[in-house]
Amino acid sequence: MNLILFGPPAAGKGTQAKKLVAERGFVQLSTGDMLRAARSSGSDLGKKVAEIMDSGSLVSDEIVIALIEDQLDRNPKAAGFIFDGFPRTIPQAKALDDSLAGRGQKVDAVIRLKVDENALIARVTKRFEAEGRADDNPEAFKKRLVAYNSQTAPLVEVYKGQGKLTEIDGMADVATVASSISAILDRH
Ligand code: AMP
Repeated sequence: MNLILFGPPAAGKGTQAKKLVAERGFVQLSTGDMLRAARSSGSDLGKKVAEIMDSGSLVSDEIVIALIEDQLDRNPKAAGFIFDGFPRTIPQAKALDDSLAGRGQKVDAVIRLKVDENALIARVTKRFEAEGRADDNPEAFKKRLVAYNSQTAPLVEVYKGQGKLTEIDGMADVATVASSISAILDRH
């Protein structure tokens, strides 16, 4: 099972992905987490992406595609993958299709968490106050939303066209969103 959890930043994708890891043994592939890990380790990659991430822009397709390829190679026996925050551009989606096809697999389902942008801004402002993550500051977060709407949202039509997209209410509480996702996965 290859599942894409789709939605704007701070929609709750990471929270739901972690539940699926615990409940179904899937492997979560979050490019945001991988990039943050690269930064904490002080690697060359981490240094290269730090400024771009903090500004709220997307890092290059080449970088995130390489990170995903590496993780697919490292987990040949995974029960399933949850792609969280990837793909975020049309070229990333194409690269994912090619990469999975090379492994005799495909994207099986795309679940879109639909959320209200104003509510997201409120949620992230709170998170910024509590955790101080640089790209949660209101200016950077607005830029992340712009990047989402211009570069990532077009993927909705792509996956709709392929009949893979299911939309759910991402503003519901965590347990309700989780049970909507479970119901979709049980149908596959
Ligand atoms: P996230 O935690 O998924 O919101 O990602 C945090 C930041 O990492 C984003 O604002 C981007 O700068 C970068 N990033 C994460 N995933 C991607 C991706 N698939 N493509 C480009 N940039 C990404």
